[in-house]
Amino acid sequence: MKEEFDVLIVGAGPGGCSAAFRLIDRGYRVLVVDKAVFPREKVCGDGIAPRAVHALYQMGFRQQLEGKYQVIRGVRFHSTHGGITEATYPMGSNFPDHGYIVPRKELDEMLINRIKESDAQVWEGCEVLAVLPLEKGRIPGVRVRLNGKEEEIRAKYIIGADGPSSKVGRDLGLLFQDPRYLGVSVRCYMKGVEDLTDFLEIYPEDAIMPCCGWIFSLGEGVANVGIGGMLYALRKKRVNLNQAFEIFRKKTRYASAKLRNAEMIERLKGAQLRVGLKGSIPGKDNLLLVGDAASMTNPISGEGISYALESGKWAGEAVLGALEGEISDPLASYAITLKERYGDYFHHGWLCIRWGNNPWVMNPLIWVTSKNKRLGNKMGRYLMNVRRRDRPA
Ligand SMILES: Cc1cc2nc3c(=O)[nH]c(=O)nc-3n(C[C@H](O)[C@H](O)[C@H](O)COP(=O)(O)OP(=O)(O)OC[C@H]3O[C@@H](n4cnc5c(N)ncnc54)[C@H](O)[C@@H]3O)c2cc1C
Repeated sequence: MKEEFDVLIVGAGPGGCSAAFRLIDRGYRVLVVDKAVFPREKVCGDGIAPRAVHALYQMGFRQQLEGKYQVIRGVRFHSTHGGITEATYPMGSNFPDHGYIVPRKELDEMLINRIKESDAQVWEGCEVLAVLPLEKGRIPGVRVRLNGKEEEIRAKYIIGADGPSSKVGRDLGLLFQDPRYLGVSVRCYMKGVEDLTDFLEIYPEDAIMPCCGWIFSLGEGVANVGIGGMLYALRKKRVNLNQAFEIFRKKTRYASAKLRNAEMIERLKGAQLRVGLKGSIPGKDNLLLVGDAASMTNPISGEGISYALESGKWAGEAVLGALEGEISDPLASYAITLKERYGDYFHHGWLCIRWGNNPWVMNPLIWVTSKNKRLGNKMGRYLMNVRRRDRPA
């Protein structure tokens, strides 16, 4: 069986949904497929940074977020010998003065529900198995498994938003397995966490280096707790993330004090991160990769929802331009936008993290910034990529 569409979007996470929002209700045949059935879990810290809040508000989700989820006022960095640095949003930037913690199960369901209300088709439980071979210099579509049967879906344009292990990206040779651009993190939900705050709490503590930990409050003593690090650093120091998580819970100066009496609500779950823009090529011919598939997690913070939302928007706009005859090469125009908007930041962030996962860098850095609010805010702005000169997408 063959189905023909104008645009096929593979993956209905923040990247795929954001791309879909640019294309729905315009009379084009748009199909979004995801191998999962929503609501579904996604291993994540659930931190919605101001950059992502801006994108979500632009998409019209203000009402669904305000008053419903834990509001975040800034970031706190805890280092074993350097103390605590606090940076408060908006830190003098053009972005909203708050973030949120929203379980991904709920965030992603909210996004996909909006697409289901539009003229687009959404096929859940539909797994992409392979990209079809090139025809006349174009990628004609994909082979999927749906309801136990295999079929082909054909489309003029394809947006690959299928996460860090992107099947469409792998099939086309667009993903690199370079440990310098890969991260790994584990997280779980815990109850009975003490002294939770309305800050993103980040713990670059000595006992878990080269990992960094986090405790993000969901309210009422429940938190998303996790640690992660860059793959090259974990391999070099032979770090086992499960063991490092136990050390984070029990043997750190600041985090242990909060987690001492806390209980895990579910088992620890892990996932890969593809960071710094250089772990992938952003597309080929009529196929564009967005979000994690295109290696768009922030190398310093591990935050990727903002970049999935923004890159999805740009990819959707480029494809829309092509459908309307205004852009001849949507991939080229999309790639230029990515380079202009993210190139320098991701490169410098990636260099920073090579140094930043050492106690002898983090302790003095946190000590200095904890003594000077202006420097602390500068560091917070840099980490969140909301510097004064940054403009919202
Ligand atoms: C432990 C951890 C903590 C994190 N914490 C944060 C945080 O606090 N804040 C933040 O901003 N970012 C965080 N991130 C990063 C963030 O989760 C990602 O950057 C973000 O989810 C990227 O969105 P995406 O739409 O590109 O991909 P995803 O959210 O991964 O969505 C991809 C979708 O594609 C579907 N899919 C995959 N393969 C196929 C296939 N073959 N066929 C059909 N569908 C397919 C999947 O089911 C999924 O729904 C964290 C990541 C990890 C691992």
